[in-house]
Amino acid sequence: MHNIDIEVVEMTLDVMKYVIGRITTTSPELGKPKTSEELKKLVGDTITPDGIGGEKAFHLFKDVLAKATVPIDHPRHLAFVPAAPTRSAIMFDLVTSASSIHGAYWMEGAGGIFCENEAMSWLVSITGMPQGAFGVFTSGGTAANLSAMVTAREYWRREDRNKGEKGIIVTSAAAHSSIKAMAKVIDVDVVLVETEDLMTADHLQKTILTLAPEKRKRLFAVVATGGTTNAGIVDDLEGIARVCKEENLWFHVDAAYGGGALVADSVRHIFNGIEQADSITIDPHKWMFSPYDCGAIIYRNPDLAKEAHSQKGSYLDIFKDEGAHGFNPAEYQIQLTRRVRGLPLWFSLAAHGTDQYKEAVECGIALANLAGSLITSHPDLELVRPPSLSCVLFRRKGWSPMDYTNWTYKNHKEGIALVTPTKWKRKDAFETVARFCFINPDTTEDDIRVILKTME
Ligand SMILES: *Cc1c(COP(=O)(O)O)cnc(C)c1O
Repeated sequence: MHNIDIEVVEMTLDVMKYVIGRITTTSPELGKPKTSEELKKLVGDTITPDGIGGEKAFHLFKDVLAKATVPIDHPRHLAFVPAAPTRSAIMFDLVTSASSIHGAYWMEGAGGIFCENEAMSWLVSITGMPQGAFGVFTSGGTAANLSAMVTAREYWRREDRNKGEKGIIVTSAAAHSSIKAMAKVIDVDVVLVETEDLMTADHLQKTILTLAPEKRKRLFAVVATGGTTNAGIVDDLEGIARVCKEENLWFHVDAAYGGGALVADSVRHIFNGIEQADSITIDPHKWMFSPYDCGAIIYRNPDLAKEAHSQKGSYLDIFKDEGAHGFNPAEYQIQLTRRVRGLPLWFSLAAHGTDQYKEAVECGIALANLAGSLITSHPDLELVRPPSLSCVLFRRKGWSPMDYTNWTYKNHKEGIALVTPTKWKRKDAFETVARFCFINPDTTEDDIRVILKTME
């Protein structure tokens, strides 16, 4: 074992060199995928009876495999929702692994869970939810949405008349795919409010009124979006909150992407009403500069989540005993064994202070507005709608869907940028358009200009 330890130490230095190089460069190589066959040909067999040695495996990763990935924090990666983890959060992700903390129960993970809870208290504070609201970190927005939907459904089923009933949720057509996917997982039906733009109280009310009595009694929750993934649109949260209260429905806000903007004074007002939610999803790995993977689910009344999620087993009883008492993250979402994935966020917040988060998020919003004006003043380009949060939808006049596809592949192949098209519904037809989503504060005006030039 001793020799291996020395090898590991030597390799760690190598790894650190790689990691430091990786996180200090602001213009990394973009990276492109290769087929599985091509990669196999390049690296050969890596799992063998004798092992190929850590040194060799690491170099194969660094020299070949890592290059077949796109660093999602590349300043010209503006596709999907990018990421931009802080250097300190990445560094602390390594510390989190090295600390081997079991993050399910306070009895084992107290110190780590304490840090997560500090970060969570801040997250809760920016939502404006009342005293008593609290949450836990999850693997992402999908798991957070699922955890909230299960909690809402179990709460609804406490009533005798709802036992065994199949539930229904209402959400908008612009809601994230994970809402519909997780509805399938828990076997509830989804009624869509047909709008790509913001869902209003009026839309919601009308949709509820169209439900036959048999369906209306199965309706238990409304899922609003705090920043659609496609266009950065925030639903009318205040109006929807009012309807949910009147109709006695659970009010969930999916702010997986947009939640970061709760710290930004320039746009905070469009989230008014979020503080009335029963549950909120926010992904720190999107606009809160955490490394993958880190989502969060916050509940107005965490006890309801505990009733829905607490797992029972004779070997688990000790964790719930008075003597072990403390906050057990496992009891508030779907996962049992978990890493303390909120730790990198905690360390980064502690190191930089929350004002820097505010500035970094405002930067993404400013980049979107800047891109908006560059597009408006460009003769070949036009905005599809005004930039919203950090999303910009725009069209290249005269382009067909195929032109957008070719543009994406060409830019990626040449290592210029990863920017992808999306679709936007106008009247009853879907139009293919270009889309930017800004997260990384290291993206510059020049980056935007370079990309727009590729459309000329
Ligand atoms: C990204 C996203 C999700 C899914 O989150 P994951 O972390 O990818 O699981 C859900 N909802 C919205 C609005 C999103 O933007």
